[in-house]
Amino acid sequence: MRPLVAGNWKMNGLLQQAQALPAQILAGSAGLACDLLICPPFTSIAAAAAILQGSGIGLGAQDCHAAASGPHTGDIAAAMLADAGCQFVILGHSERRAAHHESDDMVRAKVAAALRAGLRPIVCVGETDDERDAGEELAIVGHQVAASLPDDFIGDIAYEPIWAIGTGRTPSTNDVAAMHRHIRSALRTRLGAAARNVRILYGGSVKAENAATLLAVEEVGGALVGGASLDAAAFLAIARAAGQVCGRGLQVAAGLQ
Ligand code: PEP
Repeated sequence: MRPLVAGNWKMNGLLQQAQALPAQILAGSAGLACDLLICPPFTSIAAAAAILQGSGIGLGAQDCHAAASGPHTGDIAAAMLADAGCQFVILGHSERRAAHHESDDMVRAKVAAALRAGLRPIVCVGETDDERDAGEELAIVGHQVAASLPDDFIGDIAYEPIWAIGTGRTPSTNDVAAMHRHIRSALRTRLGAAARNVRILYGGSVKAENAATLLAVEEVGGALVGGASLDAAAFLAIARAAGQVCGRGLQVAAGLQ
Protein backbone atom coordinates (compact mmCIF):
# COMPACT_ATOMS: atom_id res chain seq x y z
CA MET A 1 0.00 0.00 0.00
CA ARG A 2 1.17 3.54 -0.60
CA PRO A 3 1.91 5.65 2.45
CA LEU A 4 -0.92 7.91 3.61
CA VAL A 5 -0.52 11.52 4.70
CA ALA A 6 -3.73 12.71 6.35
CA GLY A 7 -4.53 16.26 7.42
CA ASN A 8 -6.68 16.67 10.52
CA TRP A 9 -7.95 20.25 10.41
CA LYS A 10 -9.65 19.84 13.81
CA MET A 11 -12.05 22.76 14.53
CA ASN A 12 -10.45 25.11 12.00
CA GLY A 13 -11.56 26.50 8.68
CA LEU A 14 -14.50 28.51 7.38
CA LEU A 15 -15.87 28.11 3.88
CA GLN A 16 -13.17 30.25 2.23
CA GLN A 17 -10.41 28.02 3.65
CA ALA A 18 -12.35 24.85 2.86
CA GLN A 19 -12.17 25.86 -0.79
CA ALA A 20 -8.72 27.48 -0.94
CA LEU A 21 -6.67 24.89 0.98
CA PRO A 22 -7.79 21.77 -0.93
CA ALA A 23 -7.28 23.69 -4.20
CA GLN A 24 -3.70 24.61 -3.18
CA ILE A 25 -2.96 21.03 -2.12
CA LEU A 26 -4.44 19.66 -5.33
CA ALA A 27 -2.34 22.07 -7.40
CA GLY A 28 0.88 20.85 -5.74
CA SER A 29 0.09 17.15 -5.58
CA ALA A 30 1.19 15.93 -9.01
CA GLY A 31 3.70 13.08 -8.92
CA LEU A 32 3.50 12.40 -5.17
CA ALA A 33 4.33 8.82 -4.23
CA CYS A 34 1.85 8.76 -1.35
CA ASP A 35 -1.90 8.97 -0.80
CA LEU A 36 -3.25 12.29 0.48
CA LEU A 37 -6.27 12.78 2.71
CA ILE A 38 -7.96 15.94 3.95
CA CYS A 39 -10.22 15.84 7.02
CA PRO A 40 -12.00 19.18 7.45
CA PRO A 41 -14.75 19.93 9.98
CA PHE A 42 -18.25 18.65 9.10
CA THR A 43 -19.40 22.03 7.80
CA SER A 44 -16.60 22.20 5.22
CA ILE A 45 -16.89 18.66 3.85
CA ALA A 46 -19.26 19.52 0.99
CA ALA A 47 -17.11 22.44 -0.17
CA ALA A 48 -13.93 20.37 -0.05
CA ALA A 49 -15.68 17.49 -1.85
CA ALA A 50 -16.58 19.79 -4.73
CA ILE A 51 -12.92 20.79 -5.15
CA LEU A 52 -11.48 17.28 -4.73
CA GLN A 53 -13.99 15.31 -6.81
CA GLY A 54 -12.15 13.00 -9.21
CA SER A 55 -8.73 14.18 -8.00
CA GLY A 56 -7.58 11.04 -6.18
CA ILE A 57 -7.12 13.05 -2.97
CA GLY A 58 -9.19 11.49 -0.21
CA LEU A 59 -11.74 13.24 1.97
CA GLY A 60 -12.49 12.29 5.55
CA ALA A 61 -14.34 13.43 8.65
CA GLN A 62 -13.12 13.62 12.24
CA ASP A 63 -15.85 11.62 14.00
CA CYS A 64 -19.16 9.84 13.46
CA HIS A 65 -21.92 8.41 15.65
CA ALA A 66 -22.19 4.67 16.25
CA ALA A 67 -25.88 4.57 15.27
CA ALA A 68 -27.14 4.68 11.68
CA SER A 69 -29.81 7.30 12.46
CA GLY A 70 -32.10 8.40 15.27
CA PRO A 71 -32.53 10.83 18.15
CA HIS A 72 -28.91 12.03 18.51
CA THR A 73 -29.06 15.79 18.36
CA GLY A 74 -25.92 17.34 16.97
CA ASP A 75 -24.36 14.05 15.86
CA ILE A 76 -23.51 12.80 12.36
CA ALA A 77 -23.99 9.23 11.09
CA ALA A 78 -21.32 7.45 9.06
CA ALA A 79 -23.68 7.07 6.08
CA MET A 80 -24.15 10.86 6.06
CA LEU A 81 -20.40 11.29 5.72
CA ALA A 82 -20.24 8.83 2.84
CA ASP A 83 -23.21 10.63 1.26
CA ALA A 84 -21.35 13.95 1.56
CA GLY A 85 -18.32 12.58 -0.29
CA CYS A 86 -16.11 11.12 2.46
CA GLN A 87 -14.16 7.89 2.06
CA PHE A 88 -12.42 8.05 5.47
CA VAL A 89 -13.20 8.97 9.07
CA ILE A 90 -10.81 9.62 11.97
CA LEU A 91 -12.11 7.86 15.11
CA GLY A 92 -10.94 7.77 18.71
CA HIS A 93 -8.73 10.86 18.49
CA SER A 94 -7.28 11.59 21.92
CA GLU A 95 -9.05 14.96 22.00
CA ARG A 96 -12.38 13.14 21.65
CA ARG A 97 -11.39 10.36 24.05
CA ALA A 98 -10.56 13.07 26.63
CA ALA A 99 -13.15 15.81 26.02
CA HIS A 100 -16.06 13.53 25.07
CA HIS A 101 -15.15 10.61 27.35
CA GLU A 102 -14.94 8.16 24.45
CA SER A 103 -13.99 4.70 25.71
CA ASP A 104 -12.45 1.90 23.62
CA ASP A 105 -15.94 0.29 23.49
CA MET A 106 -17.46 3.47 22.09
CA VAL A 107 -14.67 3.83 19.55
CA ARG A 108 -15.12 0.19 18.47
CA ALA A 109 -18.86 0.77 17.93
CA LYS A 110 -18.10 3.85 15.83
CA VAL A 111 -15.52 1.94 13.79
CA ALA A 112 -18.10 -0.78 13.11
CA ALA A 113 -20.60 1.88 12.00
CA ALA A 114 -18.03 3.45 9.69
CA LEU A 115 -17.25 0.07 8.10
CA ARG A 116 -20.97 -0.61 7.58
CA ALA A 117 -21.21 2.72 5.72
CA GLY A 118 -18.25 1.83 3.49
CA LEU A 119 -15.82 4.27 5.11
CA ARG A 120 -12.17 3.47 5.92
CA PRO A 121 -11.57 4.37 9.58
CA ILE A 122 -8.32 5.79 10.92
CA VAL A 123 -8.28 4.74 14.57
CA CYS A 124 -6.14 6.85 16.90
CA VAL A 125 -4.23 5.41 19.85
CA GLY A 126 -1.58 6.86 22.12
CA GLU A 127 -0.34 7.25 25.66
CA THR A 128 -0.17 10.23 28.03
CA ASP A 129 3.05 11.70 29.42
CA ASP A 130 2.41 10.05 32.80
CA GLU A 131 1.81 6.64 31.23
CA ARG A 132 5.10 6.87 29.32
CA ASP A 133 6.94 8.05 32.44
CA ALA A 134 5.57 4.97 34.23
CA GLY A 135 6.81 2.70 31.42
CA GLU A 136 3.24 1.67 30.57
CA GLU A 137 3.05 2.98 27.00
CA LEU A 138 3.28 -0.36 25.18
CA ALA A 139 0.66 -1.98 27.40
CA ILE A 140 -1.71 1.00 27.16
CA VAL A 141 -1.47 1.30 23.37
CA GLY A 142 -1.59 -2.47 22.83
CA HIS A 143 -4.82 -2.59 24.81
CA GLN A 144 -6.30 0.34 22.89
CA VAL A 145 -5.56 -1.44 19.60
CA ALA A 146 -7.11 -4.70 20.77
CA ALA A 147 -10.20 -3.08 22.29
CA SER A 148 -10.94 -0.35 19.72
CA LEU A 149 -11.16 -2.58 16.63
CA PRO A 150 -14.01 -4.87 15.57
CA ASP A 151 -13.11 -8.35 14.25
CA ASP A 152 -13.64 -7.32 10.62
CA PHE A 153 -11.51 -4.16 10.81
CA ILE A 154 -10.28 -2.76 7.50
CA GLY A 155 -8.60 0.60 7.99
CA ASP A 156 -5.56 2.34 9.39
CA ILE A 157 -4.15 3.12 12.84
CA ALA A 158 -2.63 6.43 13.90
CA TYR A 159 -0.16 6.24 16.77
CA GLU A 160 -0.32 9.66 18.39
CA PRO A 161 1.44 10.08 21.72
CA ILE A 162 -0.86 12.55 23.48
CA TRP A 163 2.07 14.53 24.85
CA ALA A 164 3.34 15.11 21.29
CA ILE A 165 0.10 16.53 19.87
CA GLY A 166 0.41 20.26 19.22
CA THR A 167 3.40 20.59 21.56
CA GLY A 168 6.37 20.53 19.18
CA ARG A 169 7.71 17.51 21.12
CA THR A 170 8.23 14.18 19.33
CA PRO A 171 9.37 10.74 20.50
CA SER A 172 12.82 9.52 19.53
CA THR A 173 12.96 7.43 16.39
CA ASN A 174 13.83 4.44 18.58
CA ASP A 175 10.64 4.97 20.58
CA VAL A 176 8.56 5.36 17.41
CA ALA A 177 10.06 2.15 16.00
CA ALA A 178 9.40 0.21 19.21
CA MET A 179 5.79 1.38 19.37
CA HIS A 180 5.03 0.76 15.71
CA ARG A 181 6.47 -2.77 15.94
CA HIS A 182 4.35 -3.36 19.02
CA ILE A 183 1.21 -2.11 17.25
CA ARG A 184 1.93 -4.37 14.25
CA SER A 185 2.21 -7.31 16.60
CA ALA A 186 -1.04 -6.36 18.39
CA LEU A 187 -2.76 -6.09 15.00
CA ARG A 188 -1.56 -9.58 14.02
CA THR A 189 -2.94 -10.96 17.26
CA ARG A 190 -6.25 -9.15 16.79
CA LEU A 191 -6.78 -9.54 13.02
CA GLY A 192 -4.53 -12.35 11.82
CA ALA A 193 -3.36 -12.09 8.21
CA ALA A 194 -5.57 -9.03 7.60
CA ALA A 195 -3.16 -7.02 9.77
CA ARG A 196 -0.89 -6.61 6.79
CA ASN A 197 -3.46 -4.33 5.12
CA VAL A 198 -3.38 -1.81 7.97
CA ARG A 199 -1.10 1.22 7.69
CA ILE A 200 0.28 2.50 10.97
CA LEU A 201 0.57 6.29 10.75
CA TYR A 202 2.60 8.42 13.15
CA GLY A 203 0.98 11.62 14.46
CA GLY A 204 2.09 14.33 16.88
CA SER A 205 3.94 17.53 15.87
CA VAL A 206 4.88 16.28 12.39
CA LYS A 207 6.30 19.24 10.46
CA ALA A 208 8.11 19.68 7.16
CA GLU A 209 11.37 19.82 9.15
CA ASN A 210 11.04 16.48 10.99
CA ALA A 211 8.87 14.50 8.57
CA ALA A 212 11.64 12.62 6.77
CA THR A 213 13.20 11.49 10.05
CA LEU A 214 9.92 10.26 11.56
CA LEU A 215 8.54 8.74 8.37
CA ALA A 216 11.68 6.75 7.62
CA VAL A 217 11.20 4.69 10.76
CA GLU A 218 10.39 1.01 10.37
CA GLU A 219 6.62 0.28 10.21
CA VAL A 220 5.67 3.96 9.82
CA GLY A 221 3.17 3.95 6.96
CA GLY A 222 2.44 7.66 6.82
CA ALA A 223 1.46 10.58 9.02
CA LEU A 224 -1.60 12.08 10.67
CA VAL A 225 -0.89 15.81 10.64
CA GLY A 226 -2.70 18.44 12.71
CA GLY A 227 -1.34 21.99 12.75
CA ALA A 228 0.90 21.67 9.70
CA SER A 229 -2.01 20.42 7.58
CA LEU A 230 -3.48 23.94 7.62
CA ASP A 231 -0.58 25.17 5.49
CA ALA A 232 -0.54 23.74 1.96
CA ALA A 233 3.23 24.11 1.49
CA ALA A 234 4.02 22.39 4.80
CA PHE A 235 1.49 19.60 4.17
CA LEU A 236 2.88 18.97 0.68
CA ALA A 237 6.46 18.94 2.01
CA ILE A 238 5.44 16.24 4.50
CA ALA A 239 3.77 14.30 1.67
CA ARG A 240 6.92 14.52 -0.47
CA ALA A 241 8.97 13.20 2.46
CA ALA A 242 6.51 10.33 2.92
CA GLY A 243 6.77 9.38 -0.74
CA GLN A 244 10.54 9.38 -0.52
CA VAL A 245 11.27 7.62 2.77
CA CYS A 246 8.26 5.54 3.91
CA GLY A 247 8.99 1.85 3.56
CA ARG A 248 12.73 2.32 3.82
CA GLY A 249 12.52 1.86 7.57
CA LEU A 250 14.41 -1.37 7.77
CA GLN A 251 17.56 0.20 6.39
CA VAL A 252 17.25 3.54 8.14
CA ALA A 253 16.26 2.02 11.49
CA ALA A 254 19.69 0.47 11.76
CA GLY A 255 21.12 3.97 12.18
CA LEU A 256 18.62 5.27 14.74
CA GLN A 257 19.84 7.46 17.53
C1 PEP B 1 -3.45 15.53 15.72
O1 PEP B 1 -4.07 16.10 16.59
O2 PEP B 1 -3.94 14.59 15.09
C2 PEP B 1 -2.08 15.99 15.45
C3 PEP B 1 -1.25 15.14 14.97
O3 PEP B 1 -1.79 17.31 15.75
P1 PEP B 1 -0.39 18.07 15.54
O4 PEP B 1 0.18 17.63 14.23
O5 PEP B 1 -0.75 19.52 15.54
O6 PEP B 1 0.49 17.69 16.69
